[in-house]
Formats: sequence, C-alpha cells, structure tokens
Amino acid sequence: MIVGIDAGGTLIKVAYTENGSLHFTKYPIAEIERVATWINELENPVICVTGGKSGVLRSLLNKNSKEMVEFEATHRGVQFLLDRMGRAEDVYVVTNVGTGTSIHCIQNNMQERLGGTGVGGGTLVGLSHLLTGVTDYEEIVELASKGSRDRIDLKVKHIYEGKKPPIPGELTASNFGNDLFAVAGELSKEELLSTVVGLVGETVSTVSVLAARQCSSSTIIYIGSSFIHNSLLKEVVESYTILRGATPLFLENGEFSGAVGAMISL
Ligand code: ADP
Repeated sequence: MIVGIDAGGTLIKVAYTENGSLHFTKYPIAEIERVATWINELENPVICVTGGKSGVLRSLLNKNSKEMVEFEATHRGVQFLLDRMGRAEDVYVVTNVGTGTSIHCIQNNMQERLGGTGVGGGTLVGLSHLLTGVTDYEEIVELASKGSRDRIDLKVKHIYEGKKPPIPGELTASNFGNDLFAVAGELSKEELLSTVVGLVGETVSTVSVLAARQCSSSTIIYIGSSFIHNSLLKEVVESYTILRGATPLFLENGEFSGAVGAMISL
C-alpha cells in the first residue's frame, strides 16, 4: 500500500492506493494515535507524511516514512487532481482554506507562496461557537445554510441611499456592520452562522483576488476542508470571486491535495 498523509492543524487527511485504486479518508487531529496504529499495523506500506503535525505523527510510527514540505505536496496534489478532472491549467492561484488560509501562485510548474490570512476554517468554527455555542462543524454549516445575512451585514447599497454607488452595491461594506444594537437579542443562530460564513468567504476571496494580481492568471483554485459539505461557503466564494473579476474553480477532493502530493512523491 502507498500512503500519503497530510497531518494539519485540525484534520489528518489520508490518500492511499490499494490494488490500483485511490482512496481518501480523514480523521480529527485528536485521533492522531489511531492513525498511527492503523499505519503501524499495515503490511509493507510505503509512507510519506506532510503538514504541520507530520513530526508528531512520524514520532508515533514504528515504520520508515518520508517527509515532504507541505506547500510542495499541495502543489503536486493539485496538479494531479486537476488532471483527474480533465483540466489543463498551467498558470493559476491556489487558495487553501484550511484552519488558516494560504495563497500560492503556480507558474512554470513551480509554486510561490503569495501570502495568506488568519481568517479561515478555524475562524469559521471558533467564531461560530463563540456567537452561538454550537460546537459541531456539520451542525454549524447546516444551520448557516438556512440563515440570512440581511440584518447583520451592511452592503455598499445601504450606505449609498438614493444614489448610484461607485462600486457594486452588492459588495459588503461591513461584515457584521449593520445597525445591530436594536436587533442583537433576536438574531437566530442561522443568521449569525451564515454571517460568519460570509465573513470568512468574502475575506478569503478578496485576499485571493488581490494576490492573483501578482500571478499572471485570474483563475483561482480553492481547496481545503472548509468547503466540505459547505455549499454556502462555496457560493459566497464563487460569487465574490466573480464579482471581483476572477474565475473560481473548486477542485474535487481538493482537501486531499497535500495527502495526494505526498502519496505520488513515493
Ligand atoms: P488543516 O490542514 O489546517 O487541518 P483543513 O484543510 O483540514 O486544514 O481544514 C480545516 C477546517 O475544515 C476546519 O477549520 C473546519 O472549518 C473544516 N472542517 C471540515 N470538516 C470538519 C470536521 N469534521 N471537523 C472539524 N472541522 C472540519
């Protein structure tokens, strides 16, 4: 078995090939010992580990393993998954919305990190919990998908009352910036959570579009586990990226890019 593992801040992503077919699986980082036990019990695996927690995982393994720099693994994995989707992009931006967000330019088969933002999937879960008490990721995204941001966000068109704004009126002027004091006590969990998703989605897409100006492409490929079962985040990121003049693409199984890149390096 050939195994690639991306041990990140929140989740451990695993890609492996068995009898010629590719499999994906993921675990919470709290289950790192369980992952190590699974690997330790495999017969003759070939293993490559990447991600911020790769050192911790490797210290729990009783088998030889290779280690790979995370950004390089992600880059290779994105190329592989793009190819699998039948896409032939060769210049593009990759925005990885993991616990935090990291943005890269891919050109001439090389990756360069353009920057990032601390606003990412960790913000989504953390801020959601603080505002509503909800802890479970799946519950957060489910409730968020049913909410409206209208009473909480302030749009450009709300400021330019009776006047044509110089920028699209649908842009958010201020996330959580509406006149909240009167309605604060009556806001539902759904409204609060959808606004948190809006904040995260608009921030990562805005930063990505600005970063893309340093890369000779306006195609932005979004990956990372923050998009799992999160069609609202995808919608926000897609529409905001288009509104700001770039072309978004969501990579199938994109959250496994690092794990796939590690696996195919073997
Ligand atoms: P990292 O490599 O930093 O662990 P990921 O790409 O795995 O980053 O993304 C982590 C984010 O994915 C979390 O912050 C959360 O928003 C989201 N997520 C998706 N599924 C889950 C889950 N089952 N449990 C917790 N977070 C999840």
